Amino acid sequence: MTVVTRFAPSPTGELHLGSAYSAWQCWHRARDAGGTFLLRIEDIDIRRCKREFETAILADLTWLGFTWDGAVRRQSDHFGDYGRVLDKLDARGLIYPCFCTRSDIAASANAPHGPDGPLYPGTCRHLSLQERRDRIAAGVEHCLRLDAAKAAAEAGPYSFTDEKRGRISGEPLLFGDVVIARKDTPTSYHLSVTHDDHLQGITLVTRGEDLLPSTHVHVLLQKLLGYETPLYAHHRLLTAPDGKRLAKRDRSLTIRALRDSGRTPEEVFSLLPKD
Ligand code: GLU
Repeated sequence: MTVVTRFAPSPTGELHLGSAYSAWQCWHRARDAGGTFLLRIEDIDIRRCKREFETAILADLTWLGFTWDGAVRRQSDHFGDYGRVLDKLDARGLIYPCFCTRSDIAASANAPHGPDGPLYPGTCRHLSLQERRDRIAAGVEHCLRLDAAKAAAEAGPYSFTDEKRGRISGEPLLFGDVVIARKDTPTSYHLSVTHDDHLQGITLVTRGEDLLPSTHVHVLLQKLLGYETPLYAHHRLLTAPDGKRLAKRDRSLTIRALRDSGRTPEEVFSLLPKD
């Protein structure tokens, strides 16, 4: 089978050493296998993402010597696609509008915790159709949540394979009734990434191990939507000399800063782990 990988940065800052490592992980797997390497810009967060960062990321990737196949897919150009997927889930009663504010959710302090904090207690899942309609008509801001228990029942048991960790059993309730379309943008990371991986025929998803919990939601969505499940390779995260995770705000470790300090692409690669 041909290998198709993708690097999917969010343009919320300049490319740093950690993301260059991630790009290398995706790129070399595709190139070693004579496969395809795609580039996707994950800019659904239209307030935090900036076109100038996108341009800078592409320039830094090119400077490092990465080449990608075909056109770059920019998620903000495809909100209509994600809307159609939401309509499908809605028609099956798998999502519901949620009007709760952050503080409403924080107030339910006894709720069990998931990877992103307290699990949503399900308050708005119990609203009647009329109550939902009235609130939407009154312009109350809302997000859309997945009814995780219903989704789990429809999907049935599932699993996925991580290159290093082997077969992992899917935990559909890990994030509870996870947000599937945000209040401030008409989709979510989980929905867009799952849809795009399917649409672009990705066979191997390579990304940082911080996103491993999210894979449980992505594979659940794949099962619900009849999408193939790719193979996963969750790689380690690079840390700064003080042991903390590299963050976009660490300007000294951006590719741009390393370039400006006179380093060559080879010298930058020599800073990255070899596996
Ligand atoms: N856009 C995500 C990020 O920049 C990566 C998502 C993914 O690879 O699935 O962290």
